[in-house]
Amino acid sequence: MLIIQLTGLSGAGKTTISSYVKEKLAERSIKVEIVDGDVYRKTLCADLGFSRQDRCENIRRLAKAALAFGDTCDTAIIAAINPFEEVRKELRENYSIKTVWINCAVDILIERDTKGLYKRALLPEDHPDKLHNLTGINDSYDKPLHWDLIINTGSETIEASANVLCKFILENIKNAHQARS
Ligand code: ADP
Repeated sequence: MLIIQLTGLSGAGKTTISSYVKEKLAERSIKVEIVDGDVYRKTLCADLGFSRQDRCENIRRLAKAALAFGDTCDTAIIAAINPFEEVRKELRENYSIKTVWINCAVDILIERDTKGLYKRALLPEDHPDKLHNLTGINDSYDKPLHWDLIINTGSETIEASANVLCKFILENIKNAHQARS
């Protein structure tokens, strides 16, 4: 099984691209499982907050959840902000997980603001609705130092971005099979 860790700010397109890829590859009988950070925060990771320690633990658990799919799927995609290079490196080195950077400029994300989070993070300090831990605005994000693929979602269509990831998965599944035989 190929495991991919996405990394990118909120609204960059991690969920959108993963869902599109899952659907596209299903047409070719390739089974993709998505380990979506937003979904797992309501279940397996419901006890975790947004401190650095909790964000790291969150990603470690998502990696375990992805690994648990074993050979029941061809590819598992961990779709979470995944902000720290330290943990991304750990996943890469410990489990040979590939890293895909879903990259989009913050000013475009502020404009998109599909979940309304940027608007809340940019409110005055004393506003009751102010969000204090939005990655990239008032919480840290380590720009990736290492990645296997970068997708620039600010400048292309969803379809174009998703096709880049489809191609990457197809190539890497093929390589993984060749390496085994
Ligand atoms: P994330 O999971 O990274 O928080 P989402 O997938 O929930 O982000 O939201 C991404 C938003 O950006 C969606 O509203 C989507 O329609 C839009 N979008 C625009 N262009 C792209 C692109 N090239 N790839 C992915 N999403 C895009």
